[in-house]
Amino acid sequence: MIRFEHVTKRYADGTTAVEDLSFEVAEGELVTLVGPSGCGKTTTMKMVNRLIEPTEGRILLDGTDIATVDPVGLRRRIGYVIQQVGLFPHRTVLDNTATVPHLLGAPRARARARAAELLDLVGLDPKTYGDRYPEQLSGGQRQRVGVARALAADPPVLLMDEPFGAVDPVVREHLQSEFLRLQSQVRKTVLLVTHDLEEAVRLGDRIAVYGHGTIEQFDTPATVLGAPATPYVADFVGADRGLKRLSVTPVEESRLEHPPVLGRPGDGFDAPWAVVVDADGRLDGWVPSPGSPARPAPRAVPLGASLREALAALLQDDTGWLPVTDPAHGDRYAGVLTPAAIHRALRGATPEAEPPAKPEADRTPTPTP
Ligand code: ADP
Ligand code: MG
Repeated sequence: MIRFEHVTKRYADGTTAVEDLSFEVAEGELVTLVGPSGCGKTTTMKMVNRLIEPTEGRILLDGTDIATVDPVGLRRRIGYVIQQVGLFPHRTVLDNTATVPHLLGAPRARARARAAELLDLVGLDPKTYGDRYPEQLSGGQRQRVGVARALAADPPVLLMDEPFGAVDPVVREHLQSEFLRLQSQVRKTVLLVTHDLEEAVRLGDRIAVYGHGTIEQFDTPATVLGAPATPYVADFVGADRGLKRLSVTPVEESRLEHPPVLGRPGDGFDAPWAVVVDADGRLDGWVPSPGSPARPAPRAVPLGASLREALAALLQDDTGWLPVTDPAHGDRYAGVLTPAAIHRALRGATPEAEPPAKPEADRTPTPTP
């Protein structure tokens, strides 16, 4: 969808902002550009909508060299969200959001109806907020209006430059989750610039880690954290990359262990403990030792949840293991996750090189006493 071919940008004063960049962003993919200040992220982004022209190389959008496309027409196909948001102070939230569809020729009533839909989509009730002016909103709400406005013309591509940079950490996390949910609905091709590694890891399908004007590594968050390509990247992702991997490593079937499964709490079994499922295969409780009464099942997480969510759930009670359910099969019980399995998953050198969990039948996890 977006393809950089050997792109270099040298500013008039001789500063080389980016050098020989080549990468590709697939349709519907969200790529984060992350790196320290001054490493060329904004320059990269502004070349996509031709606010900056490359010195060398070319950029293709959907196979077309953008240098051959009228910049105004190009920008209609590219939503642009910046940290300062840039809302018109004397227009209401609804009018701010409706600006682009209206400019594109939509009749005023239709543009406003569309704007109301978009405000709803980004979590702002148009009835409450539509008639307010930007200064009557919190920073987080203004950012949401910025996102709604960028989506107003339904562009296939979205450029976001530090979109959540100006709000406090709690609001930022909230906006990030909202944006992920939104992106799962609208599936835009997104380039998102951030200097915050946590944000890059959380949002990106893939991350481009910038050195100085070059990309040091371009890969999935799990691989960047699990197998940094260069000492620079290792240093950038930091000593706590094992912890960061928690949020990007999913709970997978291969990591689960399988204690005996009972159809009724009173059934006998030959293991330290067992789980109980109902007629539909859903978890109903567990039996801490043969012959003892059943206890309620601890909180479960679904397959595909992050190890971060799993660890948080594990720390919620004293059981010492976590039931896992399968959302693809009616939330049936799928197995259990233990602290040792989480440790193994995070210690693997790379997601691929990691040794698979051994499927031994006798390796029953030990509950804490
Ligand atoms: P980032 O967004 O990663 O912080 P930028 O792309 O804004 O980095 O800047 C990359 C480099 O280019 C920096 O050294 C910056 O000072 C320089 N730069 C940016 N804009 C200009 C300009 N208009 N003229 C000269 N140098 C610039
Ligand atoms: Mg920048």
